[in-house]
Amino acid sequence: MDHFNYKQGKLFAEQVAVDKIAERVGTPAYIYSKATFLEHLRKIQHAYKTIDTMVCYSIKACGNINILKFMAKAGFGFDIVSGGELYRALQAGADPGKIVYAGVGKTDKEIIEALDAGIAYFNIESEAELENLILLAKQKGKTPKAALRVNPDVDPKTHKYTTTGVKETKFGVDIERAEKVFDQFGKNSAVKLCAIDMHLGSAGHTVEPYVEALNKVLVLVDKLRKKDFTIETLNIGGGYGADYVTAQSPTAEDYAAAIVPLLKGKKLKLILEPGASVAANGAILLTKVLYCKTSGRKNFAIVDAGMNDLIRPPLYNAFHFIWPATVEERFSYIKRTEKLDIKGLEFVDVVGPICEGADFFAKDRALPPVKRGDLLSIFTAGAYSFTMSSNYNARGRAAEVLVDGNKFEVIRKRESYEDLIALEK
Ligand SMILES: *Cc1c(COP(=O)(O)O)cnc(C)c1O
Repeated sequence: MDHFNYKQGKLFAEQVAVDKIAERVGTPAYIYSKATFLEHLRKIQHAYKTIDTMVCYSIKACGNINILKFMAKAGFGFDIVSGGELYRALQAGADPGKIVYAGVGKTDKEIIEALDAGIAYFNIESEAELENLILLAKQKGKTPKAALRVNPDVDPKTHKYTTTGVKETKFGVDIERAEKVFDQFGKNSAVKLCAIDMHLGSAGHTVEPYVEALNKVLVLVDKLRKKDFTIETLNIGGGYGADYVTAQSPTAEDYAAAIVPLLKGKKLKLILEPGASVAANGAILLTKVLYCKTSGRKNFAIVDAGMNDLIRPPLYNAFHFIWPATVEERFSYIKRTEKLDIKGLEFVDVVGPICEGADFFAKDRALPPVKRGDLLSIFTAGAYSFTMSSNYNARGRAAEVLVDGNKFEVIRKRESYEDLIALEK
């Protein structure tokens, strides 16, 4: 489900033709659909409605304050991984009681800011971090709640850079060691260690790893409760599949159908931290073809977006469906998939202007014929896309545009040359 569709050969974001946005804002531009984000969040909330669930959207996926604002207004919480994300969330009007804070390297400054804000849970990734939190909480006279992040040693079968829940990653503590951590800290009066947290990693496309991990974690919860430790909440993190390919991933209902029965009657509040499954198909990156050229057997479309705007293809070998913003009617109704079997397509490498071989969006991709000046839409560019963008090659970051029904507005200006040197002495 998303709100980027072709009508009579023209790509629309909700009810706005994207070529109109390009005319006004220029390219490259990130174009977000408000309805897509909110519908994903509401579907998740609805899927888990039979158990007490808090949905904390993971800000690092896509964090423009205007996006966080409408999420906060709709009552959603946030998963943060830095002091900067805490600041963003609070500025967006988030309820601190719905903020959870993960990350293996929280600084004292960041911890104190989160203590002052009164967030819901610190997700604890090591004994050393917990000791430090206890120290700082005492100094500040606060009694925060904490969740121990355990590593259930389950492989979500995703890219090695997005796998976080197996042994020998830097995240959380081994599930075998979790009991020892509770023996030592579970009755601490300064920090209430009263929850278990896990996050398997991103971009898995099956439900099974969650079931496998939950079964392990629920055994731990039982053991801890038998030892008289209070466990009130289970945070099962994020990582739910997003639709980079049409209908590729389980839906929120599919995940809930497997997860909710395991938690029935367990007297555990549930926290979810979805990022990509909410944001990924909530945006496109709109870019313009600068030049076409042939080199050996290869055809290239050189576009005005680069790896500084969207680094996922070279970083994760990620697939992004790419299609012209204006096409012949017969190319209008296609599934977003890697292999398209339609007559009249040409194979091209879609590449950026940056001086790096890694500056590509797609290789040998079947596309309708494109020429200089055409607009291309790089789909599912809502998650880990703008948030990972940089100024490499002294390129200003792209503009961000939010579409809401038949209206659109620029929610982040394109960076200017002046912006590029503004902080330099
Ligand atoms: C990144 C992250 C998430 C979100 O992951 P997605 O794959 O985007 O759903 C959730 N929780 C934690 C702790 C994270 O680091």
